[in-house]
This record gives sequence, C-alpha cells and structure tokens, in this order.
Amino acid sequence: MADIPPATVKRIGFIGLGNMGLPMANNLYKGFKDSADFIVFDVNQTVTSNFLKEHNTDPANPDKVKIAKSPLEVAKEATVVVTMLPASQHVQSVYFGQDGLLEGLTDKHVVVDASTIDQSVAKKVADVLHAKGVKALDAPVSGGTGGAQAGTLTFMVGSRTTEDFDLAKPYLEKMGKNIVYCGTNGNGQVAKICNNMLLGISMIATSETMNLGVRMGMDPKLLAGILNTSSGRCWSSEVYNPCPGVLENSAASRGYTGGFGTPLMAKDMRLAVNAAVETRSTVLLGALAQQLYNQMANNKEFEKLDFSAAYKWLSEGSK
Ligand code: NAD
Repeated sequence: MADIPPATVKRIGFIGLGNMGLPMANNLYKGFKDSADFIVFDVNQTVTSNFLKEHNTDPANPDKVKIAKSPLEVAKEATVVVTMLPASQHVQSVYFGQDGLLEGLTDKHVVVDASTIDQSVAKKVADVLHAKGVKALDAPVSGGTGGAQAGTLTFMVGSRTTEDFDLAKPYLEKMGKNIVYCGTNGNGQVAKICNNMLLGISMIATSETMNLGVRMGMDPKLLAGILNTSSGRCWSSEVYNPCPGVLENSAASRGYTGGFGTPLMAKDMRLAVNAAVETRSTVLLGALAQQLYNQMANNKEFEKLDFSAAYKWLSEGSK
C-alpha cells in the first residue's frame, strides 16, 4: 500500500464550507499551510471567496489557495480531500455526480467524508472508491460549531484498515481532539447516528424541563445550575442549554442562529429511526423526537434555527 505522509502532500482539498466545514477547513489550513497548498469547493461561492480572501495572502504564492469549479477539479489537484456536506444526497452528488470527485481519484488519494449520512451510503462510497485503490474513510464528528472552531471535535472513524486510519489521522488531528477508530467503513456513521439520537432526545427533554420550571416560577439560570449539579445533568442542560440567557454563548442566547440546524437534526433522527427499522430495534423516544424535529424543520421560521429552538417551539407553542 502506498504511503502518503503529510510531507509529500502538495495540495489539500476541502469541499463544503458551511457552519462546520469552514472552521474545520480553517484549522486544517493553519495546521498544514507551511507544507501544503489548498483547494476548496462549495456551491455557495461566497464562502469559498471568503476563505480565499482570508488565507491567500502570500504574494509569492498566488495559488496558495484555489477555488475549484467542481469536485473533479479538487480531485485532480489535491491528494488529500475532506468533504463536509449536509446529507447523503449531497455526498452522492459530490462523489458520483457530473464532474464529481470519483472521476479524478486514484490510488494516491486519501479521502475523508466527515458528513453525517446513512451507513449504507457511507459503505457504498467506500466500496466504489476502494475499487479504484483510494483510501476512503467515513469520519462524522461530534462537538458542534464550537468544537469545530476550537479544533476539539471528536471524529468517529470508519475505515477498511488501520493503515488507512493512520494515513488520515494527522489531518483529523488538526481539526479534532479525539480521533476514534470505530471499525470498518460505515461504523463511524453508526457511532454518530446513535450519539445524535440521544442528543436529539435529551435536547427535547431539557427543553421540556426548563419550560416547566420557568412556568412554575423558577429563575432559569438557577434551575439550570441545580440540574447541572444534580442527576438530571446532561450535555444539553450544561453545555448547550436551550433556554435563552442561561449560557452567554449558546445558540439560544443569540436567537438560535448558527449552530446545528433543525433540518440537520431532523435528518439525523430519520437516519436513526430508519436504522432501527432495518435492525428491528425499538426506539420509542427516538421516533417521538423525530416527529418534533420534522415539524420544526417544516416550519418557515424554525427551519432556519438551531435545533435547541425545541425550547422556543415548546414554550411558544403551548402558550
Ligand atoms: P451546512 O448546511 O452549514 O453546510 C453544508 C455546506 O455544504 C454548505 O456550505 C453548502 O453550500 C455546501 N454544499 C451543499 N451541497 C453541496 C454540493 N453539492 N457541493 C458542494 N458544496 C455543497 O451544514 P453543517 O452544519 O456544516 O453540517 C455539515 C454536516 O456535519 C452535516 O452532515 C451535519 O449533520 C454534520 N454535523 C453538523 C454539526 C453542527 O453543529 N452544525 C455537528 C456535527 C455534525
């Protein structure tokens, strides 16, 4: 198997510079700018030109950062490629669509998809890429936009071999703190889908609890403080409290802007419920939570908001 140490990688590619992808690409850039050039692609040209403006500052190397016209161009120019896209259909189109990555990939490439998608699609992408000799990994992340900015994400990595994992690890380490090998391709998605089902449920449970306490006359900060030193404590109550004003830097305290959009959470709950059907598992609370996020994602106001707007939905909806 060809070895691809970071020093021989001349250009790194990144596709999908959204809420998560942009800070991840920034950290990857910071980590490798002295040894590699970059090429980025996104259907939203504003984000790629902002990336170019921010990083292409060396007059001696005007091609330090390039904006690609297609995923194919990324594959032709870069030997390490990271993709961070919303859902399975976007991944399929970037990899297999017209002017997609696949056509330009060779056995010299290491390709990491960090999007959260169906396990079956992750496996299919890996199978097709492996047939061309590409080292293909699925590496969905946890840690939110804060973790993406701080470079402290957890990567849940599925890869055919631990050798492939070792090749990708130096790149993932620039964007994350915990890089966890989860087994073969698709297993990264298993870990991620299970985590997000729990997160989706716990965010609704925290929202119900905070709403109830506030209506019973309790100060929300005081209530959250007690929950967080008691047995009700969870990530949603402590790190990402959905009640405005409880945490200064939470999505809730900035009008639920940015963060993890309700359509993405609705998608992840769907991935979990579909997986439960396929494996004959019972996910009563997961299925209920899916219904609530579906309603939010299909509402003109809430479709643009962070998933912690479950609190807003419950508190306004039951006025
Ligand atoms: P986002 O919608 O903010 O960003 C997605 C980016 O992909 C956008 O810039 C969009 O223009 C681009 N894109 C869409 N289709 C494309 C295509 N065909 N070609 C090129 N670019 C395309 O989403 P996000 O919040 O960054 O999430 C990305 C992935 O990470 C999702 O799978 C999500 O479930 C997962 N995730 C998100 C969070 C979070 O807190 N936001 C946390 C963990 C995991």
